[in-house]
Amino acid sequence: MSAELWLQALQEHGYRLTESRRAVVEIVAASSRALTPLEVFDLARAAHSDLGLVTVYRTLEKLEELHLIQRVHQPGGCQAFLAASQGHQHLLLCQHCGQATFFEGDNLDQLFATIAQKTGYVIKDHWLQLFGLCQNCQ
Ligand SMILES: [Zn+2]
Ligand SMILES: [Zn+2]
Repeated sequence: MSAELWLQALQEHGYRLTESRRAVVEIVAASSRALTPLEVFDLARAAHSDLGLVTVYRTLEKLEELHLIQRVHQPGGCQAFLAASQGHQHLLLCQHCGQATFFEGDNLDQLFATIAQKTGYVIKDHWLQLFGLCQNCQ
């Protein structure tokens, strides 16, 4: 479902849809795990064997530009990508298998007020990502 929407969005932004790009989009759209470009490459190559790594990077870049995917940080520091959240959500990431879960709601106002007071900043926004072990990895 979202793969088709992403492909449509790419096309609307003047991006030609090749089989390689389609393979990349389908892998990332279907994944509930955050994937590194190399993992995307390996998975998508199973569907499309003459896929190049450069195509993976370019397609991910374009999807990120269109806010269809988001970059997440992993404990190792290496960049991985995930379908973007809908609206303001926070991310929970399994540090073992990369499984991603979004959650809503935060009772952080008190904390932010304290931080603002201590630092003199006007806090405008936040981005929150928690690490842990998913149920399967515990
Ligand atoms: Zn896990
Ligand atoms: Zn929040």
